[in-house]
Amino acid sequence: MKIDNDGYYQDLDEGRYWDEVAEEDFKDSLRASREARTAKKRAIRKEVEKQLKAAGVQKSTHEIRGAKIEVNCLTCKSKFTARVADRKRGWAKYCSKSCKAKKQTNWSWL
Ligand SMILES: [Zn+2]
Repeated sequence: MKIDNDGYYQDLDEGRYWDEVAEEDFKDSLRASREARTAKKRAIRKEVEKQLKAAGVQKSTHEIRGAKIEVNCLTCKSKFTARVADRKRGWAKYCSKSCKAKKQTNWSWL
């Protein structure tokens, strides 16, 4: 590490500067790609809504976003409606938060 006439760490300072530049660039590219993705999704949803409307189908945005199925809760066995997309992700196995908590809590210590 060199110390210049002012007595401060030139190398370190330069290194930090370029790190910051690289980080800013990285953040900018992340933000840009995220915005592009969001815009694309919005465009697709708009197009779907437009085509459904043209076909005379009346559906809420909520319904368009995901097909639903009836499933049984793993804890209380009662039926509830879950989104297919959630089931694919391994979610929506319980009818409620309390049922999920019951199944996932280890009661054996009692
Ligand atoms: Zn349940």
